[in-house]
Amino acid sequence: MAPIRRIYGFARGSSDGNKSMKELLGGKGAYLCEMARCGLNVPPGFTITTEVCEEFYANGGMLPEALKTEVKAAVAVVEADMGLKFGDVNTPLLVSVRSGAAVSMPGMMDTVLNLGLNDAIVEGFAAKYGARFAMDCYRRLMQMFGDVVLEIPHEAFEAKLAALKGRKGVQYDVQLDADDLRELIAAYKQVYAEHKQELPQDPWQQLYLGINAVFKSWNIPRAIKYREINKITGLKGTAVNVQTMVYGNMGESSGTGVCFTRNPANGASELFGEFLINAQGEDVVAGIRTPMPIKLMADVMPPIYAELVANTTMLEKHMKDMQDVEFTVQEGRLFMLQCRSGKRTGTAALRIALELQAEGIIDRDEAVLMVEPRHLDQLLHPQFESDKGYAKDVITRGLAASPGAAVGRLVFSAAEAEEWKARGERVILCRHETSPEDVGGMHAAEGIVTCRGGMTSHAAVVARGWGKPCVCGCEHLHIDLKTKTLTFELHGAEVRLREGDWVSLNGTSGEVINGAQPLKAPEVTGGDLGKLMAWVDKARRLRVLANVDTPEDAAIARANGAQGIGLCRTEHMFFSTHERIAAMRRMIAEEELASSHKLEALEALKAFQREDFEGIFKAMDGLPVTIRLLDPPLHEFLPQEGPAMAALCRQLAGELGASVERVEARLNGLREVNPMMGLRGCRLGIVHPEITDMQATAILEAATRVAAAGGHVHPHIMVPLVATTDEMDHQLHVIHAAAKRVAAATGEKVPYKVGTMIEVPRAALQAGPLAERADFFSFGTNDLTQMTYGISRDDAQAKFLTTYTHNGILQSDPFDTLDVVGVGEMVRIAVERGRAAKPDLELGICGEHGGDPNSIAFFNKVGLDYVSCSPLRVPIARLAAAQAAIKAAAKAK
Ligand code: PEP
Ligand code: MG
Repeated sequence: MAPIRRIYGFARGSSDGNKSMKELLGGKGAYLCEMARCGLNVPPGFTITTEVCEEFYANGGMLPEALKTEVKAAVAVVEADMGLKFGDVNTPLLVSVRSGAAVSMPGMMDTVLNLGLNDAIVEGFAAKYGARFAMDCYRRLMQMFGDVVLEIPHEAFEAKLAALKGRKGVQYDVQLDADDLRELIAAYKQVYAEHKQELPQDPWQQLYLGINAVFKSWNIPRAIKYREINKITGLKGTAVNVQTMVYGNMGESSGTGVCFTRNPANGASELFGEFLINAQGEDVVAGIRTPMPIKLMADVMPPIYAELVANTTMLEKHMKDMQDVEFTVQEGRLFMLQCRSGKRTGTAALRIALELQAEGIIDRDEAVLMVEPRHLDQLLHPQFESDKGYAKDVITRGLAASPGAAVGRLVFSAAEAEEWKARGERVILCRHETSPEDVGGMHAAEGIVTCRGGMTSHAAVVARGWGKPCVCGCEHLHIDLKTKTLTFELHGAEVRLREGDWVSLNGTSGEVINGAQPLKAPEVTGGDLGKLMAWVDKARRLRVLANVDTPEDAAIARANGAQGIGLCRTEHMFFSTHERIAAMRRMIAEEELASSHKLEALEALKAFQREDFEGIFKAMDGLPVTIRLLDPPLHEFLPQEGPAMAALCRQLAGELGASVERVEARLNGLREVNPMMGLRGCRLGIVHPEITDMQATAILEAATRVAAAGGHVHPHIMVPLVATTDEMDHQLHVIHAAAKRVAAATGEKVPYKVGTMIEVPRAALQAGPLAERADFFSFGTNDLTQMTYGISRDDAQAKFLTTYTHNGILQSDPFDTLDVVGVGEMVRIAVERGRAAKPDLELGICGEHGGDPNSIAFFNKVGLDYVSCSPLRVPIARLAAAQAAIKAAAKAK
C-alpha cells in the first residue's frame, strides 16, 4: 500500500492541490491552493488533510508520530520561501493554525493565531517590528492559545483586558501602548498560573498542540450541533491549515477585512463587507469593534482597494459563484487569506443565480443548482402584511443583516430560546452579541437581534446561512441579563420589555418592532422566482404531485405548481365538522350491516365525501387525483378511554337504540395491542367492504357530476397497506362493482384507475403479481420505513432515534430522509419487479420523503414517475427534482 500523503503545500503561483480536492483538503485548504494557483498573493503554508483527522481519532485523539517530521519538512519549505525561521529569535516566522472541513462551518471549530512566539522571541520580534506590535501579537497568542488549547475560560482574559482599559481610560485595544500590553501579558501569565497552566516556550510544541486542538475541535459540542442542524454527514473530519502569519495590526497602513463579491442579504452586484484598520482577523468576525464598510477602503487605501476589486472579480469568475473572501493588508501590501462560496439568503441566492447566468458566468442548469432547496423555502416564508402599519411601534433600527419577517417572544439566552421552542413557542433571541456557543438557540429562534457587531459579525453570518431574519448592532437597546429585560427609549419615554413579551423583526429594513405584527403568505409565481422555476420545470423528469385532503389545499398545491394529487387521505375529512365525526361514530358503533342506522350513517358519510371530492376534482381540473380508501384503525375516530368515551357510549346507545354495555363492548373491542400492524388499510375494507363500497361510490359519483358539468376528471382510487394479491383482488371487486352501479344509475362511465400503495415489505417483494392487477403503485414510505426497519413511526424519535442520530449510529432520521440502502432497496425491488410485469406501470411516492431533496434524488435515480408531497413543499420538490436530473445527466456524461 502506498504511504498516505498527509500534507499539501501552497504558495503564491504554485500549489499541490486545487479546488476539486475539498474532501481531502477541506474547503479552506482547497481554495487556498486554488487562489495560489491563480497567482494571488497568498501567504505560503500547507494543509494537513482530513484523512489525518480520521487517523487522529483512530489513534485515540493523538497526532500520528510521523506527522511531526512531515510538519517540520513543510515548515522548512515555508521558511525558505519567506526568508524567516520558525522559533528563531532574530527572524521569527509566525504561523496561524486554522480548521477547515469540506463543508464550511463558520466559526464552529477552532483557530490559533500568532504561533511561534515566546518570552525570548517576542523581544527579537519587537526589535524587528516595534514593541507595540510585537506585544500585541504575543498577548493575542496567549489569549487564543489559553482559550482554545488549554481551555482556560476566555472571560478570564477578557476581564484582565477590560480592567486594563478601564485603568488606562481607553475604549479600544488599539489605544493601548507597548507598556500597557506588557502589563497585559503579565496579567495573562497570572491567569495561566491561576489555572495551573503555562504557555509552552518551545514553538514546535505550540504548533503541535495547536494542530491537536484544531482536530479536537471537530468534535466539540457546538460543531456537532451545527452538523446536526445542517444535516452535514459523511465527512472525514477537518483539515488543518498552517499558514504564515501576515499582520493587519502593524499600524495605520495595515488592516484586515472580510468581503463578499455580491451582497449576501439581497444579492446586489457590489463588493460588500467590512474592514478594520490596525487589527487582526478575529476582531472583525467577533464583532468586538464595529468595522467600517468596505467601500470606505477606496478612500483610505485606493490602490489596495482597486487590487482587492480586481482579485475578487477574477475569483468570482474563476469559481463560478459568489465568493466570501478574507484578506489582510500588511503595511500597504494585500494578502488573500481565504475564499469560499459565500453563504446567502434565499433572496440573494435567487438574484445571484439569475445575474451570474445573465452575465454568462454560469448556464441555466448551473443557476438551478445554485439555488438550494432551503433558499426556496426561505423565499416562501411569510412577510409582514404591511411595513407601514407598524411604524409607531418601531423600537429601534439596526443593521439589516438578514432579511425576512419574524415574530416571537423575547428571550435573552440561547438555552432559553431552546427551552421556549421545546414548549412550542416562537422566540426572538436578543443578545449583546452571539458566539458559536449560541448556535442551538439561534437555530431555535425565529429571528435574532444583537446590540453589537456588524454585517459580518457571527450573528449576521450564521443567520444569513439559515435564512433567519437578523438585525445587528442595535446600540440603543440595553439588555439586563439579571432581570431578563430589554430597555429602550420610545417617543421620549423609557420602555422596558420582559422575557416572553412579543416582538417582531424586519430583517429587510433592520427594524425591531414592539408586539406581534401580522404576517401574510409570499407571492410564488411571476418575477425572478417564476423565471427560475421555468428553468427548473424544463430540467426535471419527475412530476411533482401534492398530498391534499381539502379543496382549499388543492388550490394552494396547484398555485405552487402541483401536477395533480398523489394522496388524498380520506380519513381527515371525517374530522372537519361535528356532523361528520358523529356519522362516522354511528357507522362504527352499529354492528348490523342491514340496520337502518348503519345505512343512514353510510349514506351521510357518502354525501360528505362526495361533496369534498367534487371540490377537489374541480380544483384539479384536468389533473390526476389519487384518493386513498380509509386507512387508520377505527379506534382513532373515538375519544380516549375515560369520561369522554363513557359519554359517547351513552349518546350512541340512545341514537342506535342499543344498550350502553353493548356499545361499550363494541367500541372497546376495537382497541388493539399493536394497532399499526392491526385492522387498518385494506384489511379494514375487507372486514368492512361496505366502507370501500361507500367510498368508491362517493368518488365515482363526484367524478361523474364534475365531468357532466364539463370538468376533466382523472380519478385514481388507491388501496392502502396491501400485502397479498388476494387482498387486492377483493378490493378491486368491490370497487368495480360500485363503478358499475354508478354507471348504471347515472348513464355515464367515467374512466378511473385503481392502484395500490406499497407500504409493507411483502408488497414490495410481490410487486410482480400485484402489478398485474394494479394500474399504479404509490410507495407509502412512512409505513414502508416503519415496517422494513421495525421502527415505530409514532414514538421512535423520542425513545431512541434522537440518540441514534446524535451519536452517529444513524446518519439521519430514516423518517426524514429515506434509508436508501435498506428501505430504498425495497423500493428498487418493487420498481424492477413491477415494471417487469407491466412496463407502463405508473410509479410514485407519497410518503413524507416525497418532499425531502435527498430522497427525491434517489426516487429520480430508481426511475419513479412522480413524487407527492405537502402543498407548501411542492416548489422545493420541483427544484430538488430538477437538481437531481441535472446532476444525474452530468454524471452520465
Ligand atoms: C405512508 O405510509 O407513507 C403514507 C403515505 O401513508 P400514511 O402516512 O397515511 O400512513
Ligand atoms: Mg401509510
